[in-house]
Amino acid sequence: MTSLLWLQTGACGGDTMALLCADSPSVEQLATDYGIELLWHPSLSAQPAGHLDRVLRRIFDGELALDILCVEGSIMTGPNGSGMYDPYGDRSKMSLVRELADQAGFVAAMGTCAAFGGVHAAPPNPTDCLGLQYDGQAPGGLLPPEWRSGRGLPVINVAGCPAHPNAMTKTLAMLASGLPLELDALNRPKAFFSSLVHQGCTRNEYHEYDVEDTEFGERGCLFFNLGCRGPSTLAVCNTELWNGSNSKTRAGVPCFGCTSPDFPRSHDLFRTEKIGAIPLDLPLDVQRAGYMAYKSLAHEAAPQRVLDKAMEP
Ligand code: SF4
Ligand code: SF4
Repeated sequence: MTSLLWLQTGACGGDTMALLCADSPSVEQLATDYGIELLWHPSLSAQPAGHLDRVLRRIFDGELALDILCVEGSIMTGPNGSGMYDPYGDRSKMSLVRELADQAGFVAAMGTCAAFGGVHAAPPNPTDCLGLQYDGQAPGGLLPPEWRSGRGLPVINVAGCPAHPNAMTKTLAMLASGLPLELDALNRPKAFFSSLVHQGCTRNEYHEYDVEDTEFGERGCLFFNLGCRGPSTLAVCNTELWNGSNSKTRAGVPCFGCTSPDFPRSHDLFRTEKIGAIPLDLPLDVQRAGYMAYKSLAHEAAPQRVLDKAMEP
């Protein structure tokens, strides 16, 4: 069996809601097929709250091994570094998480808040929130950059707001199965953070020929005007569909770049920031010089069916 404890800190509960939608594997399959024993989850455990006290005592007394600690939400360090904006009994969740992390085989940050600070750490950040091992894009959050869990990994950042359901459950299944988990430069599992949201988007041909929407509810690409960050965001949203059926861009909503450490950005999420006519953020690794020339050539070459937006997105 692999023991798992899930704590919520400065969280909206969105990652738990997403977790319930996982289908490959599902939450139930984590227990039945991967031997994960849930010691505690604030929403899913049937036991009364006193049960968590007993579990914690047994972990700290060395009677119960903690294989995986999952944290959902950012760490509130205020006021004045006490962490008491988010208490657990007479102590802070900040200190509880720090102590538990040192007992755990693996620590997983579920969602961008736990990974990087996310929504709750957005300016003016009145509760002094940060991530478990990152403060935005800067290494070092609650735990220093060099910190490693009992099994030798940094905090595993399953980023997203919320995190992708199957990215969460597959990460847990891999850990429980003893499979190696390769991480990227931001400590996100490479298996789920190596391809762009743009890949697999059904609006791709519109993007290719620079056929862009200016209003929502159309069929074109959302990159130039409506804020889509799919070409610079690493996530599986369009290759492993949510609930097996949909994604933001398929539903006509721009990708907000929620798996990145700079999420949420301060500007309007539904509008593309531009320098002159050119988007501030170009597709990953694309050079600014020549981009517009390429785009206008592509538009000139667009077939009529694309210009007419005749294809279903
Ligand atoms: S990452 Fe998003 S979904 Fe998760 S706790 Fe933060 S705001 Fe909620
Ligand atoms: S809507 Fe976004 S993800 Fe889809 S093709 Fe356009 S830029 Fe790419």
